[in-house]
Amino acid sequence: MVLIGTATGINAEDDDKDAIYEKRMALFKKTEALTQIPWYYFAAIDNFERNTKDSRKPEKVISIEIPLELWFGIGNVNKSQKAEIIKLFDGKGKDGNGDGKADPDNAEDILYTMGNMILEYGPTEDDIKIALWNYYKRDLTVQTIKNTAKVFQKFKEINLTNRDFPVDTGYNYTYHNTWGDRRGFGGIRIHEGTDIFADYGTPVKSTTYGVVEMMGWNLYGGWRIGIRDIYNIYHYYAHMSGYNDDLKLGQVVKPGDVLGSVGSTGYGPPGTSGKFPPHLHYGMYKDNGKNEFSFDPYPYLRKWERMTRD
Ligand SMILES: [Zn+2]
Repeated sequence: MVLIGTATGINAEDDDKDAIYEKRMALFKKTEALTQIPWYYFAAIDNFERNTKDSRKPEKVISIEIPLELWFGIGNVNKSQKAEIIKLFDGKGKDGNGDGKADPDNAEDILYTMGNMILEYGPTEDDIKIALWNYYKRDLTVQTIKNTAKVFQKFKEINLTNRDFPVDTGYNYTYHNTWGDRRGFGGIRIHEGTDIFADYGTPVKSTTYGVVEMMGWNLYGGWRIGIRDIYNIYHYYAHMSGYNDDLKLGQVVKPGDVLGSVGSTGYGPPGTSGKFPPHLHYGMYKDNGKNEFSFDPYPYLRKWERMTRD
């Protein structure tokens, strides 16, 4: 990455960004000390919720929003923040910062309350998973939080903003904006991705931090890989000739990790190859906490290509 001179004001913005990450990390570690639940779970829950929110609105330090009825308890109509009154009404709200109030807009109170709700199930990894399922009641949400926690745990860091281009830029390749084109195979479908044309064997790389969620043969995609990143985005790589020998399901990856190589597999039973020129199909799918939808990866590919060259 390139650092631009202070005159542009970009460094000041970066400093603000770094400051918010530091503030968050301090809050997660403090709540870990209070609850014994590892900090990276709080970080992953917070991250998940942040990425389900409208990105045009200013970022909060902590984005977790606990439903008010759950926080105050049904019947606590005056929304009293006094701990004993909340308890009386079976509310979950807790005082994390020791000011005597359980405030649903206070970062420390939110994290401490979340920690206590999890602890109702127990402190082990399995307990946390069950607690998350009972809270969110959605498999993909729990899966994403679990994967994100794994990434944060591995890198001991939440400020993970590096990216890479999905094919090795030292090789020849070419791509255009092909998102939304019509495709004939298997009935009329809309092309949900960008095709990056390159020779057989060109290394395919992870663009982001994430966890390998899917590996194996697929009728359209051939040998494909799916990586769930820490921004609730699923990255789909298709038509590969094969995988990197070391790569396993559930593995944590970082930008630049080699996943395999470009091929032309797919459009038939396992092993089918050569029905079209070799290329990497790269797709991106965003989960907003309710449903998952495809979006155009092309502008991101352009950006990551520039980052890689710089
Ligand atoms: Zn494609």
